[in-house]
Amino acid sequence: MSCIKQTGEPQAATSAGSDFNAYATMQPRLPTPTPADLRNGARVKRADQAPSGVYLPNNNTLAPHMRSPEYVQISTAAAMTLGIMPGTMHRCGCTRCLNLLLTYPEGCRANCAYCGLARHREAERDYADRNFIRVDWPAVPMEQIVDIVARDGAASPFHRMCISMITHPRSDQDTVDVLRAWTRRIDPATIPVSILSNPTTMSRDDVVRLKDLGADIFTVAIDAATPEIFDRTRGKGVQSPHKWQKYWDILLAAREVFGPQKFGAHIIIGMGESEFEALQLVQRLVDLGGHSHMFCFFPEKGSLMDHLPPTPRDQWRRVQLARYLIDYAGVRVEQMRFDESGRVADFGLPRAELDTVINAGIAFRTSGCPGKFRDDLSACDRPYGDSPPSDIASFPFQPNGNDLRRIRRQLGTSVRVVS
Ligand code: SF4
Repeated sequence: MSCIKQTGEPQAATSAGSDFNAYATMQPRLPTPTPADLRNGARVKRADQAPSGVYLPNNNTLAPHMRSPEYVQISTAAAMTLGIMPGTMHRCGCTRCLNLLLTYPEGCRANCAYCGLARHREAERDYADRNFIRVDWPAVPMEQIVDIVARDGAASPFHRMCISMITHPRSDQDTVDVLRAWTRRIDPATIPVSILSNPTTMSRDDVVRLKDLGADIFTVAIDAATPEIFDRTRGKGVQSPHKWQKYWDILLAAREVFGPQKFGAHIIIGMGESEFEALQLVQRLVDLGGHSHMFCFFPEKGSLMDHLPPTPRDQWRRVQLARYLIDYAGVRVEQMRFDESGRVADFGLPRAELDTVINAGIAFRTSGCPGKFRDDLSACDRPYGDSPPSDIASFPFQPNGNDLRRIRRQLGTSVRVVS
C-alpha cells in the first residue's frame, strides 16, 4: 500500500551489530552528473503537458507542467484525509496536519543526501513522481484544497497547516502567495499555519513578512545535528548549496520575530552524530526558547543514503525519550549521563518518574508543531514517514500496551508497563 511502504524498499546495510549509526558508517554516495538535456525539469517542460486537476504520482504518464502557487503537493495521508485519494492508513483515522509542499518542474535545486526530492534524481524521475519521507505526494490545485477545508469549517480534521518550502528561486514569493490564498478563506486562528522554511534563499525580511501574514510557527530543518554532518549530507559533500551558519542565522531571526515556543528545528537522528551531540542540540534549542522535532533516519529509496542502515531502534528510543524529557519535563542534558560512545546511560530522572513518562507513551509519538489536544502532542503525525508500520519509529497514534512493551524492550529497560 503506497501510503505505508515504499515499493522495492532498499536492502540497507546493517549497522554492523552496533546499536547506533556511527559517523564512519553513514557516508553518503556521491551524486552522478545529470545529462544536460535532462536538467531543470527539461523532460517535463519539453512535453509541455498542461495539468488537469489532481495529479497522482506514478500513474505512468509524463508528469504535467505544474507549478506553485497554483499547485502544491500533499502527503498521501493528507490526500486521504481530504478525500482526494482512496485508502486507509494502518491504525490511523486521519492526519491532523495538512502539509503543503511547493512544487515546480525544476524541483528542488538542493541535493540533500537523505532526501527523495533531491536534484541528483532529475535523470531518473520527474519531480512530481519522487517519493519523499517514504510516501508519494499527489499534486493538487491549491484552490481545490482551500475549497475543501473552507467547506468543512470547524468540522475540519486538520489542527494545523504547514507550508514546506524547497530550494527554488520562486520559493520565497510562492510561500507568501500560498499563505495568502489560505488566509483569504480560512481563519489562521482556527487552523494555525506553520512554515517549514528554506533558509538558503531567505532573509530576515522574509521571516517578518510571513509572521505579518499570519503564520504561527516557523521551523528550520537543520536535519543534521553537527556542522560536519550538515556539510557532508547537505552542503559541499554532495554538491548542495546549504550552509550551517545560514540555517542558524534564519533560526535566530525566527526566534526574534516569532518569539518563545513559536520556532523550532527538525533533527534527523542516526546520520552519524552521537546521542550526546543530538541532545546537546535539543538542549540548545530549549535554552533559546524553541523546540526540536525529530525524525528517525530511514534510507529513502533513490536517495544518496539508500544503502545505509536505518537508525537502530535502541538508539532512536533513547534519543526520543531524552528529547521529550528535555523539551517537556524540565530535565537538562547535564543531568543525564552518557557512556564513552556518547550513548545515554542515565536519563537523569528517578526511576518512578521515568516509568510514568514511558507509560504515558507521548514521548514515542511523532514530534512536531502542536495541534489542539495538548502542547506536547504534535498535529504533524507523518504516518510511517520514518519507518515501515512493521517496525514503527515515530508513532502516529497513541501506543497501546503491546507497543509500550516493545518500546521498553527496545530501550533495554525493565521499566514496568501498565497496560
Ligand atoms: S532542501 Fe529540502 S527538499 Fe530539497 S533536497 Fe534538501 S531536504 Fe530535500
